[in-house]
Amino acid sequence: MYSATKNPLSILKHTYGYDQFRGQQAEIIEHLVAGGSSFVLMPTGSGKSLCYQIPALCREGVGVIVSPLIALMQDQITALAQWGIAAGAINSGMSHSNVFQVKQKLESNQLDLLYVAPERLVMPEFLDLLDTVNIALFAIDEAHCVSQWGHDFRPDYTALSFLAERFKGIPRIALTATADRATRKDIIERLKLEKGKTFIGGFDRPNIHYSIVERNNPKKQVHDFIVNNHAGDSGIIYCISRKKVDDMADWLQKKGINALPYHAGMSAEARSANQDLFLREDNIIMVATIAFGMGIDKPDVRYVAHMNIPKSIEAYYQETGRAGRDGLPSNAFMIFGMDDAAMQRSWIENSEAAEIQKRIEHQKLNALLGLCEAAICRRQVLLEYFDDTGEPCGNCDTCDAKPETFDGTIPAQMALSAVYRTGQRFGMVYVVDVLIGKEDDRIIRFGHDQQSTFGIGKESSKPEWQNVFRQLVSRNLLRVDVNEHNGIKITDKGFAFLKKKESIHFRKITEKAKESKKKNSRRTKVALDLDEDKSLYENLKSARQKMAKTRRVPAYVIFHDKTLIELAKAKPQSLDEMLEINGIGESKLKKFGQTLLDVILAS
Ligand code: ADP
Ligand code: ZN
Repeated sequence: MYSATKNPLSILKHTYGYDQFRGQQAEIIEHLVAGGSSFVLMPTGSGKSLCYQIPALCREGVGVIVSPLIALMQDQITALAQWGIAAGAINSGMSHSNVFQVKQKLESNQLDLLYVAPERLVMPEFLDLLDTVNIALFAIDEAHCVSQWGHDFRPDYTALSFLAERFKGIPRIALTATADRATRKDIIERLKLEKGKTFIGGFDRPNIHYSIVERNNPKKQVHDFIVNNHAGDSGIIYCISRKKVDDMADWLQKKGINALPYHAGMSAEARSANQDLFLREDNIIMVATIAFGMGIDKPDVRYVAHMNIPKSIEAYYQETGRAGRDGLPSNAFMIFGMDDAAMQRSWIENSEAAEIQKRIEHQKLNALLGLCEAAICRRQVLLEYFDDTGEPCGNCDTCDAKPETFDGTIPAQMALSAVYRTGQRFGMVYVVDVLIGKEDDRIIRFGHDQQSTFGIGKESSKPEWQNVFRQLVSRNLLRVDVNEHNGIKITDKGFAFLKKKESIHFRKITEKAKESKKKNSRRTKVALDLDEDKSLYENLKSARQKMAKTRRVPAYVIFHDKTLIELAKAKPQSLDEMLEINGIGESKLKKFGQTLLDVILAS
């Protein structure tokens, strides 16, 4: 156990091996050490865990961390053990004897941190147990789960409001990486944190390069993206359905790429085996539904690719946020098409949710579609969504090559009127055929070749019309009625657009845009900037891999790539010098220092 006299900065240095606090860490920690409660919203990878771990080490007693991520608790505990921190977990996945052991440690004051799932925390017998020990603080991780406005509501979490009453005087800290304004307010109210302090770090993840492209050949698009930018890297590919996951993983494997599937339809064993491989090996690609990723804190995921759009900007932000936690350059790459939006809409419509909930979800989806179609900096759109601001970033596809726009007023009017005249019941392909004047049997049979809209759009190509329709759908002037064979209908906003003779601008899809996309992908290649130290870096990596294998932990639990890069560049000649390197604290130095020093001295 750490003595109460230890101060936060010395714990940061000696235990974690880091030089200085980042962002608001120092303030948050100081507030908590002094007994204050708080709500913390900071992006993934910004170092939220230290905000409760260090106060728990400074204060008397055990820090209780509430987390929904039972499957990952053991990994967290093993990682903490490498820093020399004593942590335990109690959850429903454990055997009685394991629980008994942890309880004993807890009662004999041997634990710095205790991880529990919310449903366990609220059990009367567990609360009785807590009454018998000294508690340093409560940390409520993934706090957005408490709010219905958030994107991952968990009813178990709402019960946590009782902590304020039952454990008066014990500081509480709620943490999340994603919450829009309404969600924030809700979290603070539900967890009774009104009297606490709120810390909002920016949302920006400057090391992530964002790009979003229109779908034409999804598998190939993602494959090319990987081959051009990320050969040998760890990455995550998100697909919308289990079937698509299996299909894509299979296809990539046939292409000789190390891809593994992950979705809720697989057996628990198969899933956890794949997750383990992903965490432990260096170059695995996880092809997954969104069932995968919550709480995965593998720091060296170099990219997240979306084959389909997620349901909201929060979800996109959280999923892409799994890339580059170590701060090294990383990519978020997404392809999107209109059928995705239609699928998401149908899920919302056909869900059991209350009308108001559905309305919220439609709005969230609209915001995401706005991001996909944005002609301005993607990061600005993202940040604005969270009430954050920034200049055009220079690190996204629209900054790399500003998309051309065109006045789409006339094409939009033509499209809407063709939809109207064909009776608002045909799909996009059909209406586009009418616009370009295709002599199609069905069109003739329905007499649509006799209407004034037949062929009025023949100056434009099919893909150009598809682009117009997609943007009309994403701006909510048209909607796809999934309950009626994907027939296209005009929305109220669409009728108002016609009536008020409004104007509209669209993004162009041009050959030029396609070319510059290629150029960008080269630019986004992750460069580690090692030059002549590259071979030493590789040797350090394989030494790390061996130590990780012996200890049965992922390589990054030993050291992050960032630490190895620093080692390869600085080449410390003694253990003392090694302590200067970021990420090497006393416990890790003792465990791994000599092995790595030998590698450096032999080079
Ligand atoms: P979050 O929970 O906010 O996603 P983590 O707590 O997992 O982020 O931190 C991300 C990484 O940054 C971790 O490897 C952590 O050890 C490291 N880190 C945290 N604080 C600092 C710091 N002050 N200096 C250097 N590295 C840090
Ligand atoms: Zn940008």
